[in-house]
Amino acid sequence: MPNFDLSGKRALVTGANTGLGQGIAVALAEAGAELVLVGRSSSTETLELIAQLSGPATPSEIKADLSDLEVVQGLIGEAEQASGPIDILINNAGIITRADAVDFTEADWDSVMDVNIKSVFFLSQAFARSALAANRTGKIVNIASMLSYQGGIRVASYTASKSGVMGLTRLLANEWARKGINVNAIAPGYFATNNTAALQADSERNTQILERIPAGHWGKPEELGGAAVFLSSSAADYVHGITLPVDGGWLAR
Ligand code: NAD
Repeated sequence: MPNFDLSGKRALVTGANTGLGQGIAVALAEAGAELVLVGRSSSTETLELIAQLSGPATPSEIKADLSDLEVVQGLIGEAEQASGPIDILINNAGIITRADAVDFTEADWDSVMDVNIKSVFFLSQAFARSALAANRTGKIVNIASMLSYQGGIRVASYTASKSGVMGLTRLLANEWARKGINVNAIAPGYFATNNTAALQADSERNTQILERIPAGHWGKPEELGGAAVFLSSSAADYVHGITLPVDGGWLAR
């Protein structure tokens, strides 16, 4: 029987204080995992939601700015020293900057690339180094985007970073599959979070987006949980290098 149970596993989720990271953290806790919540700001709301579940241990919390490479490189060590080995890494934290390509600045480029792709690589590297040194298996789930497949508009660095996340997921899977580390990604469609607040507030874009989603509604963070639990569990032991769209059918159009 496929095993989706995450009891006895410890999962570190970046950007766990809100939005999709919060939805994923709650779903992993519901599946039995012990959580390490990483955020720029405090994850109070996520802690409260997990406390309402019966069973999972109280999560630990680390405040970290993932745009700082030194912080990123020290994060797995810090988490493991405080809580114990990390079995599952969810690279969720991400930002977006919107401007016409002709107006895009170096800061618009670097700020997004630092968080969305550089931190994903170096956090995954630190996770794999620790797991391999201790002969442990592990699961990495990266959060990609529809803009891993499509071009988008006015989001040059976001598209570059999320297309990079899909490629990096494949590369890391190729290097680490034989060593017992699964690297996969989830590509969320259009979910109602802070990240998409500008689109939701623009009534013309909001209508265009809703008309194109076969499921007919913006995704809710809890609708991402099943895919995250699957890719984090032993049910996905033979799944390597995929980017799984969870998009209400967006890419099917
Ligand atoms: P959000 O803005 O609600 O959450 C982003 C999270 O990333 C927050 O927890 C924030 O604290 C964290 N974060 C940002 N910069 C950070 C930094 N420097 N250090 C530490 N943490 C940092 O947006 P969301 O929609 O929940 O986004 C989560 C992920 O999902 C992102 O990678 C985003 O690109 C991706 N995504 C979202 C959608 C969507 O429709 N909402 C679609 C596709 C992909």
